[in-house]
Amino acid sequence: KNFGEFKLHPIMINVIDKLHFEKPTDIQTEVIPAILKGKSVIGQSHTGSGKTHAYLLPLLNQIDVEKRSVQFVITAPTRELATQIHDEVKKIVKFAGKEQQWISKLLVGGTDKQKMMEKLKQPPHIVVGTPGRILDLVKEEAISIYSATSFVIDEADLMLDLGFINDVDQLLVRSNKNVQLLVFSATIPQRLEHFFKKYLENPIHVKI
Ligand code: AMP
Repeated sequence: KNFGEFKLHPIMINVIDKLHFEKPTDIQTEVIPAILKGKSVIGQSHTGSGKTHAYLLPLLNQIDVEKRSVQFVITAPTRELATQIHDEVKKIVKFAGKEQQWISKLLVGGTDKQKMMEKLKQPPHIVVGTPGRILDLVKEEAISIYSATSFVIDEADLMLDLGFINDVDQLLVRSNKNVQLLVFSATIPQRLEHFFKKYLENPIHVKI
């Protein structure tokens, strides 16, 4: 497989070139086409498998710049992880060029909430953050995620271990019920299975 075989926009193919990714990793080969088809996905794979780009590339490929509302919500269990994901988003945005005015915001705890709320007056296309802070901002009506068409839960098992799954649940309650759900996790504990049953209809399960 090579990236040219996916139905990705030439802008994204150019981005992949600039990232120096020669070939898709196994998880990317399975997940990218599924995401482009609008399917919900459970991706079981470890860090280092290329899972971040398995969802970032097809999601950012579908941004509608004209629409100034949140299109993608990406959640991670820790500030560090959310920051790493956001750094990857920024890299993709930079490589996509000035004409692609994709706006992404990092929403994590430990930062000035008031300032953050001010900045959210112009809604971003992409939100990356920890569930607690995003939920906080949604409850304060600083941001609406109802417009989001895709919702990513990265490191879902850690999300569970750290006790954030209820916040994720609360975010999903405030999302469109047709949202495309993309869950990545190294392991699938039983409590996650329950969670999946509640929110996922016929997901594609990919285990690498
Ligand atoms: P992740 O599993 O998402 O933490 O990614 C691990 C590392 O692999 C990151 O540094 C990515 O930049 C890199 N990476 C992701 N996809 C590819 C690819 N197709 N080819 C080469 N490197 C990649």
